Parts: sequence; structure tokens; C-alpha cells
Amino acid sequence: MTMDYRIIIGLEVHVQLLTRTKLFCGCSTKFGLPPNSATCPVCIGMPGVLPVMNRRAFELALKAALALNCRIAAFTKWDRKNYYYPDLPKNYQISQYDLPFSHDGWLEIPTAAGPKRVGIIRAHLEEDAGKMLHDEAGGGQESKVDLNRAGTPLVEIVSQPELSSPEEARVYLEEMRLLLREIEVSDCEMQEGSLRCDANINLHVPQPDGSFVATPIVEVKNLNSIAAVERAMKYEAERQFEEFQATGKKLGEVSKATAGWDDARRVTRIQRRKEEASDYRYFPEPDLVPITVDAAALERARAGLGELPAAQRARLQTQYGLSAYDAGVLTSQGRALVAYFEEVAQRSGDAKEASNWVTNQVLSTLNERKLTIEQVPLSAAALAELLLQRKETGLNAQRAREVYAHMLETGTTAAEAIRALGFQVVADEGQLLAIVQRAIAANAKAVADYKKGKLKAADAIKGAVMRETKGMAKTEAVQRLLLQELNKV
Ligand SMILES: [Zn+2]
Repeated sequence: MTMDYRIIIGLEVHVQLLTRTKLFCGCSTKFGLPPNSATCPVCIGMPGVLPVMNRRAFELALKAALALNCRIAAFTKWDRKNYYYPDLPKNYQISQYDLPFSHDGWLEIPTAAGPKRVGIIRAHLEEDAGKMLHDEAGGGQESKVDLNRAGTPLVEIVSQPELSSPEEARVYLEEMRLLLREIEVSDCEMQEGSLRCDANINLHVPQPDGSFVATPIVEVKNLNSIAAVERAMKYEAERQFEEFQATGKKLGEVSKATAGWDDARRVTRIQRRKEEASDYRYFPEPDLVPITVDAAALERARAGLGELPAAQRARLQTQYGLSAYDAGVLTSQGRALVAYFEEVAQRSGDAKEASNWVTNQVLSTLNERKLTIEQVPLSAAALAELLLQRKETGLNAQRAREVYAHMLETGTTAAEAIRALGFQVVADEGQLLAIVQRAIAANAKAVADYKKGKLKAADAIKGAVMRETKGMAKTEAVQRLLLQELNKV
């Protein structure tokens, strides 16, 4: 089936910063505390209190913006976003409106067609609201409010509408999560709400004259997992196309709508007309001083970034000759795994083989045992030793995996494991020569073919030698003796 339309998606991501205390008071940001226990007059909005900015929150936000290649404003200020809701006791949220602290950046994401830069319109700081707890008391009639989250620092990151499929939206979020975790700005736990996402989506439907018609934009909320974002975008694109075919409504003819995603039923529900910025009556926050960002602060933030995932993926390909896919798998697991891989690659001198072992055996060991790379049971040095032994002995893949399993089980070295399993190499040249000669005698047809110039025929004889030695002969030695003997025939 051909595509009948282009999908246009922009994402607004809210990320909770890894500070110990809230944005404008000293209350704890720890997740899971008893309801309303982490509150004070500032974050529950008592009259007469004054907010004081958490410097650490600003530093973390700065790191995030720099990692997203954003331009940092030299001067930034706070604004009040006014609205009424039970989880917002002040009746306004302290946010940033016309002078966000950063803007115009990009995030590079891996796609099948190579790396793609997705523009970032802006990233700004704001405080979170509290949380409504509905129907939890049994009767189903009451709602409660927990203000522990009120005042928690958030960075809102708004992308350009440059994501062109539900899959790209998922990859963008995965990359954002990886990046922010790597630079220790946020733990990005979606189940705990420290990464939340709203998605704006519409379609461009091509017309016979070569132009296209844009459908009205829908903002989808209540997306509680990255998988839910992808599912919701798929559903909403199809729904919009059907609606467009039925009604022909275009962008601008109806106002932007908000929809909630029902992940259980896998449908979006249009909720209401979307508010405009003017509905919030933004005005400058009079209780907080504006912030000026100097070169020294920027330098400090930049120095703490380290190598970012996109750069790391590119380096693994150029430095070690890995495929984009392998580099992507390694990078997606975080810097610690990449460091482990690099040690194995350098010690064993075979990056491709190191990458295969790390992305297959090591990752499945970690998954099976529910361990992190910091708890990896086999050191990089021990794995590298196995790779070297394998090269030395020509141990086949199946045998090498058995050795690996034995090393895991017993904590022995590769050499000890090979001995214990009886996989020693036939190292004695005399013994090996006899086996080669027997194989040549037993494979007259292959020898004749080889003599006629079918060099491939030697493989059959080599296979016979490997079978006889149960794969325990040095490949290099077999090759050498085989050619030597074939030349004598
Ligand atoms: Zn507080």
C-alpha cells in the first residue's frame, strides 16, 4: 500500500530534574513519600511567602540545553502562567514565557536513512503542579490532591514539527531519555512521571495538482509510555485521515483540539478546544529576579557533558569499524557498556568480535540475571582472554559459548575452562599432520577437484580435519599443513 499522506509530529517533553529539593523551596523531591509530607508554605502557595531559585536546578537545565545544542539566552526571566486547578494552589505556575533560558537547538536521532537532526524550538524551566488522586478511596466519588510534586523542577523541551512517523517519535523519545540519563540531568522514569510527553500531530494530504492540504492539529495528552506515544500516533494519523476523507476539514478551519489517549482501549478522545497562550494571562513573576548566564557558568555546564550518544555512535563506527546497527545497540545501553566493549576490543584486538560478544552473550547474561553493567559477572579482561584463546585455538562458536558459560558458572579463566571442558587444542604438529594426511587419503574426489583448480574443494578436506579434531585444531596450522600436503599429491 502506498502512503496517502505525510505525518507531521512535534513533541513536548517534560523532564523532571534530578535535584534533591524543589525549584523554589527546600522540600524533598523524592518519589513515593506519604502524600503532602514534602510540602511547605512556599510550594503550597501560602500568602506572603517568597520563592528562591534552586541554583542546582538551573545548572542541570543548562546541561540539558547544551546537550540539545540549544542557544543559551544571556538574560532570562520567570513568568506566571495563570490558571485554576485543584492541584495548583497558587492558581498560577511559575514558568518561562517570552524569554526562555534556551532555544533553537537540535537532537540527532538514528534512522534507517542515517542520522537525522530534529529541531528544538525551545527548552524552558518551570515548576510542576501537584497530583490529583481520583477514586482511590473505594466509593469512587471523591478526589484527593497530593502536593508533594508541586514545585518540582521541570524542563519543558519543545521540538519542531519535524518527526515524520510514529516510529521516529518513539526513537526521538528513546534518544532524549538516553541523552538526559547519560548526562545525569533526569532519571526519565516514565512510570514515576519524571518524563512526560504531549504530541502534536497532523497530516499533509497530497492533492492532484501537486500541492497538499494540512489537516487540523490535534494535541494528544496522557501518553504514559514511549510505546503509548507510538501507538497513539499511529491511531491518530489514521483517524485524522478518515476524518479528512469524510469532512475535508483543513488546518485553520477549526481550532486546534486536545485529545486524551486511552491506552487500554487504544483510542484518542477529543476533549476540548486547545487554550491559546492568551488564555493564561502570562505576566512577569514579580517575586523572582531575572537570571544572567555568564561564560563561566556555561563553561562549567559544558565541561560536565562528556561524550554524547550521537557522537559516541559515530565514533564507534569510525574508530572500530562497527556497523551503524551494532554501534546503536552498544550506545543505547549507556556509557558503561560502551566502556566495557572498548576494553574488550582493545585487549582482544578484534572489535567486531568484541561487539558480537558484548551485544549478544553479555547483554543476555545481564538481562537474564537482572544485573547492570556495573555488576557484570565477567570482567572485560576475562572476556577478552576468551576471545584471544578462541582465535588462538580456532574454537568454534558453539564451543566458545560453552566456555563462556563455564567461566560464568565457575569464575575460572578462559584457559582453565577450556581445559576443564576438554576442549584443548591439538597442538602437536606431528599428530595434526597425521590427521591431515588421513583426510587427504579419504577425500580423493575433493583432492582431484582441487588439483583441477577448484580451490574451494580444499574446504571439504579441511572440514574433515576439523571433524576429526572435534574443532580443536588451530585453523592456521590446519590450513598450512593442508596446503603443504596437497602440493605433494
Ligand atoms: Zn516546599
